[in-house]
Amino acid sequence: MTSQVLPVLLVGCALSGLAIGSFLNVVVYRVPAGLSVARPRSACPGCGQAIEPRDNIPVLSWLLLRGRCRGCREPISLRYPALEALTAVLFLAAAFRFGWSPTLPAVMVFFAGLVALAAVDVERYLLPKKIVYPTGAMVGAILVIATAVQGQWSRLAVAAACGGVAFGLFFALNYANPAWLGFGDVRLAAVIGVMLGWLGVAYVLLAFLIANLAGIVVMGALMGAGKAGRKTKMPYGVFLAAGAVLAVFGGAAFGHLLHPGA
Ligand SMILES: [Zn+2]
Repeated sequence: MTSQVLPVLLVGCALSGLAIGSFLNVVVYRVPAGLSVARPRSACPGCGQAIEPRDNIPVLSWLLLRGRCRGCREPISLRYPALEALTAVLFLAAAFRFGWSPTLPAVMVFFAGLVALAAVDVERYLLPKKIVYPTGAMVGAILVIATAVQGQWSRLAVAAACGGVAFGLFFALNYANPAWLGFGDVRLAAVIGVMLGWLGVAYVLLAFLIANLAGIVVMGALMGAGKAGRKTKMPYGVFLAAGAVLAVFGGAAFGHLLHPGA
C-alpha cells in the first residue's frame, strides 16, 4: 500500500459508510415490519410526504433541518444521523486497520450488518434472520473469494471452525435458557465466529469476552439503579455486536497477551 493511495481509500470508505448507514436506517425501519427495502421511496412517518433528495443527504440534511421534517415539522429520530455517522466511523476505522486487503470489504459488510442488528435489537429485542443471513452469506462469500485469491485455505478452515463452535456453544446456551438468549443470538454468534475466526482465534475469544463482561456490567448497573429486574429483557445482540467490533481492533493485542512469545 502506498501512502498516496491510502487517503483515497479512507475518504472512499468514510463516504460509503455514510451512504450505507443511510440504507441501514431503511433496513432497521422496514425489515422488522416485513416491508421491502427497495420500494417505495422513504417518506416522513408524520405527514407521508416522500423525502426529497436534498433532504436525504446523510447527517447533513438532519443537521440543516434541525432534526425536523421540512413539511410537517415532526421530529426526525436522532437514530438516522447517528447510524450514518457510526457506520462512516466504523468503515474509516476498518480502512485504517486493514488498508487495501480482501479482508476490508468483508469487515465492512460485517460492520454494516452489526450496526443494523444492534439498532433493531435495541428497539425491538430481536435479530431478524433477514439481516443475519445476508450479512453472513456476504461475509462468507468475500472470505471464500479472498481465500481463492490468496490460497490461505487453513485460514478459511479456522474461520469455519470458529463459526461452528460459536454456533454450538450458543445453541447449548439457548437450549438451557431461551428467555435469556434468543435464537437470533445463536445465528449472530456463528457469523461473528466466522468473521473473527478469519482474523484469528484470539479475536473470537475477545469478542465474546467483551460481550459478556459488558452485558454483566450494564445489566448489573441497571439493576443497581432499580431500572431493571430479573425479568427485564436484554438486547444481547447489542453486546455481541459491540464485542465483535472492539475485538476486530483489539484482537491482535489480545493474542499477544495470550501468547507473549508469538
Ligand atoms: Zn412530515
